[in-house]
Amino acid sequence: MPDPQNMLLRSNLKQLRLPTIRAEFDKLAREAASANEDYASYLLRLTELEVAARTSHALQARIKAAGFPAQKDFDTFDFSACPSLNKPKVLELARGEWIDQCSNTCLIGSVGMGKTHVAIALGLAACRQGKRVRFFTAANLVTRLEEAQKQYQLDRLLAQLDKVHLLICDELGYLSFSRAGAELLFQVFADRYERASLLITSNLPFSEWGQVFQGERMTAALLDRLTHRCHIFEMNGESYRFRESVKAKKAAGKNPAKPE
Ligand code: ADP
Ligand code: MG
Repeated sequence: MPDPQNMLLRSNLKQLRLPTIRAEFDKLAREAASANEDYASYLLRLTELEVAARTSHALQARIKAAGFPAQKDFDTFDFSACPSLNKPKVLELARGEWIDQCSNTCLIGSVGMGKTHVAIALGLAACRQGKRVRFFTAANLVTRLEEAQKQYQLDRLLAQLDKVHLLICDELGYLSFSRAGAELLFQVFADRYERASLLITSNLPFSEWGQVFQGERMTAALLDRLTHRCHIFEMNGESYRFRESVKAKKAAGKNPAKPE
């Protein structure tokens, strides 16, 4: 293609926001010419590249917006280390239908059992399905809500959370909140009832959630909504981290019982 035409084409593709086609059309045109490919196949190949690049960028943007605290996925999760967790059921949830149905998931269990790991992996799976996800620790979410309220921005934050298909609230129960903080969190949770999904992880069994939500009535109202359509998993046993460190010390020939 003569230079001026090539430059005009590049400029048009830029204006049309087709960066992948812009980067690839020359190379693919040469390949098409030497393979005697017809025009429509050439165009199809180019548009396929653009679509693939867009899909991948959109996924990266969704993952970034979710705010996961670490990169964790099912490929690095050892289900055999947590036999109390129903693997087929968890992998079924990774297909995301529960989010389409606006139901909830709770992962309840002791520290180091992989609750956060599984929560992130389920969140990532949802991102891959095109869903909007946000990850917060409970403490973080309450702080954000309280700050937004102070700055008269609460409605804005609630509207943002409302757009999210899956809200992940990690570590509910590690810290208790002020009455006002607990009420804000309750409002967020209650607002999602039958409209959008929640994934909550907690070290506390439901019977002890009163400590977090200060008051039996609010706790009962919350649990009633939350557990109405909820997949509940108990993850109990010995901390994965602890077990791994014992293994590592044994391998290094040290006595794990002795502090270093
Ligand atoms: P919890 O949230 O239950 O306290 P985490 O998910 O933070 O536990 O797990 C602690 C660490 O151990 C993380 O680095 C996590 O990736 C890892 N881990 C926990 N359970 C497993 C498991 N079954 N397979 C692989 N890694 C695990
Ligand atoms: Mg955790």
